[in-house]
Amino acid sequence: MAFFLIALFTLLPYLSINGKPAVLLDIAARRFTLFGKTFLPTDTLLLALMMLGVFVAVFLVTAVSGRVWCGWGCPQTVYMEFVYRPIERFFSGAPGRTPTAFQRSPAAQALKLAVFFVVSCFLAHTFLAYFVGIDRLAEWVRLSPARHPTPFLVMAVTTGLMMFDFVYFREQTCILACPYGRFQSVMLDRDSRIIAYDTRRGEPRGRRQAAAGDVALPVIGRDAPRTGDCVDCGLCVTTCPTGIDIREGLQMECVNCAQCIDACDAVMTKLKRPTGLIRYGSLTEMNGSPRRTIRARVMVYSAVLAVVTTAFIAVLATKSDTDVTVMRGLGAPFATMPDGTIGNQIRVKIVNRRDTESTYTLTAEGLDGAKVESEAFPLRLGPGEMKLASAVVAAPRGAFSSGFREVDIVVHDGTRVVGRRVHRLQGPAAGGSTSGGNRGPGLDKESPR
Ligand code: SF4
Ligand code: SF4
Repeated sequence: MAFFLIALFTLLPYLSINGKPAVLLDIAARRFTLFGKTFLPTDTLLLALMMLGVFVAVFLVTAVSGRVWCGWGCPQTVYMEFVYRPIERFFSGAPGRTPTAFQRSPAAQALKLAVFFVVSCFLAHTFLAYFVGIDRLAEWVRLSPARHPTPFLVMAVTTGLMMFDFVYFREQTCILACPYGRFQSVMLDRDSRIIAYDTRRGEPRGRRQAAAGDVALPVIGRDAPRTGDCVDCGLCVTTCPTGIDIREGLQMECVNCAQCIDACDAVMTKLKRPTGLIRYGSLTEMNGSPRRTIRARVMVYSAVLAVVTTAFIAVLATKSDTDVTVMRGLGAPFATMPDGTIGNQIRVKIVNRRDTESTYTLTAEGLDGAKVESEAFPLRLGPGEMKLASAVVAAPRGAFSSGFREVDIVVHDGTRVVGRRVHRLQGPAAGGSTSGGNRGPGLDKESPR
């Protein structure tokens, strides 16, 4: 699993879907591409649904399987336990074993740091590929640092942070920096699957007296046992990366890495006792009761997640490739134009969500004699670009017998209508003044026409 994830984390920025990167979080350009779909900061509803979905999914997975993400999927655990820790064991020796002459030499420690640096440099490039894309990354790699000092500095600082995290800070990231561990107590219940020590089987812990025919330690079943199965060898504690004793119960520092399970199983195998003294199980199972998978909080989380996911897909599927918002202009709502028509100033915000440049025109429809005057249009927008432009909608004075008149503001991209909004024009009511009073700027609704 870990090696699969390392390959996935490394290759993901290089994969493309529908001609777009599988994952690209371009913060500078404020464009976030996920699995072939590009999201912009204006996609408030989509981003809110996505964040809500992630949170509910975390709650659901934790309620069912505990900190399975920490132990099996988190890059911190994956790279720490399957890249940095093996390197350290090679150059410095494994805990509890006498280091060789090479492992005690300064050369080995210098070599270890050099290898850590190379790996951290590679990880920094992989990490930044998610934010700048592989094309810009390749450019950064090829250019001399003197020609692009800022990107070089970004890469150097990221490499330094990787070194700090994986060489020095390590599990403290999980314990001190990551908020997930602190929330786990409210997300878990007695039926969540965690890594737990079987107290009923293991206690009272300690070594039994050796009996004739035993190998390293007495075999269970021979003579009456005076202790539980835990021989108090302490291996589960020394192997734990966060240094806790799982026999004292579930603790915030446990990242579900399962190393204590492996260590204890090895001891049990050597003693010819059943494995699983430390194992995956719920607190109810450890107390001898069956574990309930379906429970109220699991059903509520699942239902909320289903609703949020459905809403996200529905909004995504119906999303237009151009966002159009029409607002009233600031200041007086209308004025008499030199030709005697009534002019309303409007502001039009257009977001081009496409990956190509587009040119937009603006027209007024649904009212005879209405026309749009603006120097901003035709408006040219690059991929993902957003602009706010002003325009004046002029309409015949006679159209305002009741003081207002609705008109369709239509945005066209040269091939088709990309936005149509109903806008309420204001004007002098029969016998009224030639310029309007102060009314706040308003937002118009999407036209059903
Ligand atoms: S208690 Fe076990 S599973 Fe938890 S962090 Fe320590 S070794 Fe890993
Ligand atoms: S590794 Fe197993 S036997 Fe050894 S102290 Fe831990 S729980 Fe007990």
